[in-house]
Amino acid sequence: MGAATMHASPERVTPAQVAALARRHGRQAHCPACAHFKAPGWTSLAASTDVSALQCLGALWLPGDDEPTLEEARPAGMDPWSVEVPISLAYHPNNRCQVWACRHCVKPFLRYTEYGGYYIDHRFRELNPERLTDL
Ligand SMILES: [Zn+2]
Repeated sequence: MGAATMHASPERVTPAQVAALARRHGRQAHCPACAHFKAPGWTSLAASTDVSALQCLGALWLPGDDEPTLEEARPAGMDPWSVEVPISLAYHPNNRCQVWACRHCVKPFLRYTEYGGYYIDHRFRELNPERLTDL
């Protein structure tokens, strides 16, 4: 799996591959290179944030795939930004995320890009295996 530029399509990663990555590297602490990506819950980054410390490993959803469900696995009433929100790869927003990892220590992150009417929201979340529901 190589680095992808903004214009290249990422490779497909399967939920099983994502879960394996989470188990292998998801529990480790941040290294200095990825220290400013502290995102135990979904965290919005400014568009100007330098993400060069991370590389894209692939995506769970690729253009041309069926539209993934917008249903969420979040328990009713739970804040969507909470660190407690489960990470269910079959459900929104995880089902259309890219998987990124630190170039130095391989700590893995999910990246979700939301296209609003007048903005693009870049969100990252650490791929913590303890939050994954579909291991
Ligand atoms: Zn790192």
